[in-house]
Amino acid sequence: SPAKPAFKRVMLKISGEALMGDQGFGLHPPTVQRVAQEVKAVHDLGVEICMVIGGGNIFRGLSGSAQGMERTTADYMGMLATVMNALAMQSALEGLGVFCRVISAIRMDEVAEPYIRRRAVRHLEKKRVCIFAAGTGNPYFTTDTAAALRANEMACEAIFMGKNGVDGVYDKDPKKHADAKRYDHVSFDDCLAKNLKVMDASAIALARDNNLPIMVFSLDEPGGFRGVLAGEGTYTRVQ
Ligand code: UDP
Repeated sequence: SPAKPAFKRVMLKISGEALMGDQGFGLHPPTVQRVAQEVKAVHDLGVEICMVIGGGNIFRGLSGSAQGMERTTADYMGMLATVMNALAMQSALEGLGVFCRVISAIRMDEVAEPYIRRRAVRHLEKKRVCIFAAGTGNPYFTTDTAAALRANEMACEAIFMGKNGVDGVYDKDPKKHADAKRYDHVSFDDCLAKNLKVMDASAIALARDNNLPIMVFSLDEPGGFRGVLAGEGTYTRVQ
């Protein structure tokens, strides 16, 4: 039988782009399905799973405001985009028989549950996947920060950053430099000082201040999420 996973409760953060496939925009249902399979494989181990999904495949506040939109309005649009991604993931997970709740930081009771911490914890205890949508509910933040915030609130033991096209944290961009080196382990302070591409700085600071490890791995490998949970495969541990 497989080894007992080292983590009982985790946060999985993926970007919105992880759901768009090769389309360059929006949602690609077969890709959503594939990511849902990755989540199910970990859920099958008995691990309690929180998820935060970005919205960049649909709308980013910064790009809206760069084109003349008022920043906070653009950010709310970005938060709404994350709700669409969360609903797509919920649908895919439930199609695989994994019970799941979408919990929104912005109230929209017909669509998703409001965020009530104790209620979310109860869902996790009942082995329901909790997808935290609408970011933190505040403009000027990102879904990385939402992932770090909810991971702390839910007492997750680690944040798993599922990336596309890269399998960890490198000293320089591996797509541009053939001699780029992947770290097995890197400290929070080094991430911040060297501006390594892990999460944005406020999210890293929030993880550091609560000593919450961040595991950066590739979402491209089938079974990758489950593998990293078992301590296999390549990944970078930030702590
Ligand atoms: N956003 C926000 N507050 C939050 C989380 C997200 O205002 O707490 C907005 C912000 O405009 C951001 C957009 O939602 O650009 C989409 O989130 P993000 O860029 O983090 O998505 P990702 O890059 O992970 O797909």
